[in-house]
Amino acid sequence: MPEQGAVFCIIDGMTDEAFNVQAYPNLAAMKNEGFFGYFETVPKGFPVESYPCIASLFGIREGELPLFARGYLEALGKGIQLAEDDLVLRASWMRLAENGCILGVAEPPQAVPRFSGLSYHHLGAYRALLVVPNAKAALKSLKTYPPYAYVGKNLEEILPQGEKRLTQMVRQSLGTEKVLLPWGQSVSCPFPAFKLKAAAVGAALIFQGLAKALGLDVYTKPDFTADTDTALTAKVELALQLAQVYPLVFLHINGADEAAHRRDIWEKRFFLEQVDAKVLAPLQKAGAALLVCGDHGTSPVDGKHIGIPQPFVLYGQKRQGDLGTVQANKAVKLLLEDELWQRR
Ligand SMILES: [Zn+2]
Repeated sequence: MPEQGAVFCIIDGMTDEAFNVQAYPNLAAMKNEGFFGYFETVPKGFPVESYPCIASLFGIREGELPLFARGYLEALGKGIQLAEDDLVLRASWMRLAENGCILGVAEPPQAVPRFSGLSYHHLGAYRALLVVPNAKAALKSLKTYPPYAYVGKNLEEILPQGEKRLTQMVRQSLGTEKVLLPWGQSVSCPFPAFKLKAAAVGAALIFQGLAKALGLDVYTKPDFTADTDTALTAKVELALQLAQVYPLVFLHINGADEAAHRRDIWEKRFFLEQVDAKVLAPLQKAGAALLVCGDHGTSPVDGKHIGIPQPFVLYGQKRQGDLGTVQANKAVKLLLEDELWQRR
């Protein structure tokens, strides 16, 4: 048999109020036969979201993690060229009630206005990126409000402060009976290089951008959608092919997080069942050392992220037992066995 690399499968937004490993037969079987425990994935001082949580699972320590990186990483994932002085933000199209309150996310208008003083990049569905030239200095004083956390608030309370071009953009977007709200401000920032040759398979831009920032080789395909309609079988086949060449392959699955943000309990549950059958079963069979965990929880009840420790299952090392609670930045070492025996 050819040398087989290890696979690290990150299921975005995996857990929630009702999550139970036993509902997923392949994951439950691997837990029985392997190691299991919990990862502390949310670094101190960071919001509960994919960027800091996945970065921790990649092995980056708190002190090495830039606080403002979200927009920059997604621009990197999308292949947008940035200048040194650019300020980069995520933005979301939101529905607006007649009284000015923010409702849920919205599709962009048919004709997106030509905003003055910044460039707009559509990312699909309600998502966009904004690049504001020569605005790097505004980063420190800029205040924005991630709209997913301010549903129900009045627009006037959550206008961006500290960069005129952004406030103007929000006002200009109102002509479409929707509103485009900027958040996740960032500038180009350095990340420590990943210490090993490794591949990353996934379509979520934050995952691709982070992997690129660390110097990993990123692989994706048009039918990888970063949502519940993604090509799960093709994804796992690609990951297993790459594991013949790379000592470590990261595989990111994003659909459960998206279904939970849509507050669809059954879509999330059904998708996780599909992941168990179409991703985890073939990975288990392939005989690779395998680590499976979430980056954070996402509640399909209120659509918000949950910062609870994330259960992990470590399979394929022919040993079993409870490893307790482990810092997420130890995950790669655990998978590659370096630290396994020192911990016990
Ligand atoms: Zn999310």
